[in-house]
Amino acid sequence: MSAVAAIVERCEKLFEDLDFNAVKQWKAAVPGRKAIGYMPVYVPRELIHAAGMLPVGILGGGDSLEVIQGDAYYQSYICRIPRSTIELGLTGRLDCLDGMLFPSICDVIRNLSGMWQILFKDKYVKYFDVPQNYQDSVGGNFYIHEMQALREDLGRLRGAPITDAELNASIAVYNDNRAAVAELYQYRAAKPWQAPTSEVYLLLRAGMVLPPEEHTLLVREYLAATELEPRARRDNARVVINGSFCEQPPLGLIKSIEMSGCYIVDDDFMLVTRWLLDEVPADGDPLDELSKAFLHRSASTAAKYENTREEKGVYLMRQVKTRGAEGVVFAAPSFCDPALLERPMLQDVLAKRGIPYTAFKYAENTGQMAPIREQAGTFADSIKLWSAA
Ligand code: SF4
Repeated sequence: MSAVAAIVERCEKLFEDLDFNAVKQWKAAVPGRKAIGYMPVYVPRELIHAAGMLPVGILGGGDSLEVIQGDAYYQSYICRIPRSTIELGLTGRLDCLDGMLFPSICDVIRNLSGMWQILFKDKYVKYFDVPQNYQDSVGGNFYIHEMQALREDLGRLRGAPITDAELNASIAVYNDNRAAVAELYQYRAAKPWQAPTSEVYLLLRAGMVLPPEEHTLLVREYLAATELEPRARRDNARVVINGSFCEQPPLGLIKSIEMSGCYIVDDDFMLVTRWLLDEVPADGDPLDELSKAFLHRSASTAAKYENTREEKGVYLMRQVKTRGAEGVVFAAPSFCDPALLERPMLQDVLAKRGIPYTAFKYAENTGQMAPIREQAGTFADSIKLWSAA
């Protein structure tokens, strides 16, 4: 087996393991270790890491988990990730977690947070609010207060307060992890045939359960290995995926888009790995620096408030320009209010700039890929025809 295939196989095993054995093994290696789950899109994982705990990204049940009890907790017409997350919890698969953080993504996640508090009374559960105001003196103060509360909670959970030195050390660890992921994204945009998104995606998923130090090494190992294994280059259309920041598409859907003739050169999968856009100073007041990074140097998504209409689409256009994309594929979960309400505004921005786009919806357990492959293939063909004109 080639080095790349071995890395991808390892990531695939982690991705498919809905019993979170990697987390159980990490905990078992040192008695007393704790793990804290979080839902996408962003939580300051540095705080969890600084407490000596493992941050674990919980991204629903995917397409292999049968949701039986989870459906009873929600009405029919909402997305699937809360139901499958409840299913994971009720079936004991998340028993290895000592707590859960629910960031303020949307009302569905807010409700899920409340349900979790009722269902799992013996666990630490926090609805983690993030600011909707980007002034340091308003949103910044609020956010520092929110992070301080989390810091104190986690300190109590481990039995000792989290120090500034521990936080700064964790900021440095995550700076390195973000740098590795940024290298991966730059490499894929430069040579998408060498780093298919089906592999990049699995690498990111591995980062949801592995300690960040180990994940950083794995990403760099992959980059070194894939560069040594030349693959065929195709005349594919270069696209950005938008709308998949919360409930994830099935892996088969990502593969279908690629097989249809598209190179995915940027996306919004697991934004927590790239939320902060540059290095956070690791020698200052840690919460203040994390707050400033969130307020002034962070990614954009439908779950994040934007002050003015002019800001809408700026981040997406930057992705298109810097990655040399030729079009945008809007792929959002069915019934995802944030993504689907923002979509027309983003489409308007693209239309005004002559950037082609196509749009469809999915669920994490979507099984029928033929229509998506046909739509993405037609889109890729049309891009090639236009660019040849
Ligand atoms: S998929 Fe969309 S609607 Fe559903 S929980 Fe996530 S952000 Fe909310």
